[in-house]
Amino acid sequence: MNIESIVKNNLCTGCGACISEDTNKQAKMIWDENGFLIPQLGPNSTQEKMIIVCPFATQQKNEDELGVVFLKDRAKNYNSKLGYYTNLYAGYAKKFRETSSSGGIATFVFKKLLEEKIVDHLFIVKEKNGEYSYQFFSDFKNITKISKTRYVPVTMAELFEKIATIDGKVAVSGVACFVKAVRLKQYYYPELKDKIPFVVGIICGGLKSKYYTDFLAQSAGCFSEYEHAEYRVKNKDSSALNYKFSCIEKNNNKIHMVEMKTLGDMWGTGLFKSNACDFCDDVVTELADISLGDAWIDPYDKSGLGNSIIITRSLLADKIIKSGLDESDLVLDKLQENKVLQSQQGSFNHRHNGLKTRMKLAHINGKLFPKKREKILIDQSFLLNKIQILRAKTRSNSLYFWKITKNVGLFNEKMKSSLVKLKIFTLINSYLNKYSDKFGVKNK
Ligand SMILES: Cc1cc2nc3c(=O)[nH]c(=O)nc-3n(C[C@H](O)[C@H](O)[C@H](O)COP(=O)(O)OP(=O)(O)OC[C@H]3O[C@@H](n4cnc5c(N)ncnc54)[C@H](O)[C@@H]3O)c2cc1C
Ligand code: SF4
Ligand code: SF4
Repeated sequence: MNIESIVKNNLCTGCGACISEDTNKQAKMIWDENGFLIPQLGPNSTQEKMIIVCPFATQQKNEDELGVVFLKDRAKNYNSKLGYYTNLYAGYAKKFRETSSSGGIATFVFKKLLEEKIVDHLFIVKEKNGEYSYQFFSDFKNITKISKTRYVPVTMAELFEKIATIDGKVAVSGVACFVKAVRLKQYYYPELKDKIPFVVGIICGGLKSKYYTDFLAQSAGCFSEYEHAEYRVKNKDSSALNYKFSCIEKNNNKIHMVEMKTLGDMWGTGLFKSNACDFCDDVVTELADISLGDAWIDPYDKSGLGNSIIITRSLLADKIIKSGLDESDLVLDKLQENKVLQSQQGSFNHRHNGLKTRMKLAHINGKLFPKKREKILIDQSFLLNKIQILRAKTRSNSLYFWKITKNVGLFNEKMKSSLVKLKIFTLINSYLNKYSDKFGVKNK
């Protein structure tokens, strides 16, 4: 595999780590036709060097091997699906919950890292001129400016281009593949371990194309240019799943909003998702110092203000969380492994259990895919394989149909057939699961 084949086979999530490895400085990040960020190579770009830090390269170390290098000696426990960890929690940060996506733990941790001078800067995703990108940030008095997760492609290319000239230490937030890219950089350049002493992992169900936000904006009734897209407008009087998308129409400052539940299942169907995510087996950012996700489990999902799932991996991460508990800044329960696994069950079902089928499908279609951890690859029932095939089709159709329609009405019309088929098979599967649970018949 080289960078060209990664991009050609849609296996790039735009982390940007490879850009800094181009000795001739000709590579740069650009938008592709499907609304994802990808590297564009120059005539003399040093691909053989660039590929060493790519999280999707077949020749690369996997999460288990990197876990041994980066976390084995810094964590207390191990679980084959959760990775190395010290403690598991669910809850929220009192000060930041309302202004954050979930329980506000990311904002709390970043504030602590700056306040206690563990790092001098953050490299996080933040709004700039109405849009979102990775930026350096050090102003802990205005920490809430960095809150909220953004479902839009972003790239860390700037981090590795500038890091050598940055004065002081940097903490980074990233989804699993970005965290892996950071670890690969640190593996090949050990001096970066000291320079980036802390990585916050954002548990991620998939990278959405930038056209996903256009789809949401149009679904909210905004058909001209917009800014300040908000993906998780909470409803504190309802449940965690009951949130809205909002954006501001540029030419008249009108706020447009849509309830996400009225748009159907945006995650389970794979709409607007990158193909690369179908070959990602790291559900809970196994290589971060701390991993944060949504607590989609009872009773935490009952609160519209949101609760986080917290996996502290390094002892330093656990110390930060414990200091928050001691100072009553955090309201947390300790969790057992099964509860954390349950909170990401949908993602484990798709990303782990369906992976072998997707690899077979890619092989049949002559597409390249990265090598995956053997322990994850399992066989599934005919019905579950069929769902994988339909989901893959729905995913790629959504990117294609948006490209040719760029209009929510026409898009919904064209997507109807794939979505209905997927829904029927998913319903049959749920029905059979219920039936098999009741009568002890196997449907796996
Ligand atoms: C693309 C994506 C998919 C996700 N899918 C899932 C999922 O399937 N299951 C689940 O449990 N949780 C998922 N999350 C995470 C979840 O929505 C929350 O963001 C997370 O729990 C942190 O919540 P918080 O309240 O602690 O964060 P906040 O306190 O609101 O802070 C959010 C932090 O994340 C950083 N950030 C924002 N956007 C990005 C980005 N695109 N990449 C990297 N860093 C970013 C911000 O800079 C900020 O520091 C996803 C997040 C993203 C970005
Ligand atoms: S995933 Fe990252 S390292 Fe790999 S090709 Fe894309 S931008 Fe480069
Ligand atoms: S699902 Fe995996 S590959 Fe896709 S963006 Fe999230 S961490 Fe990266």
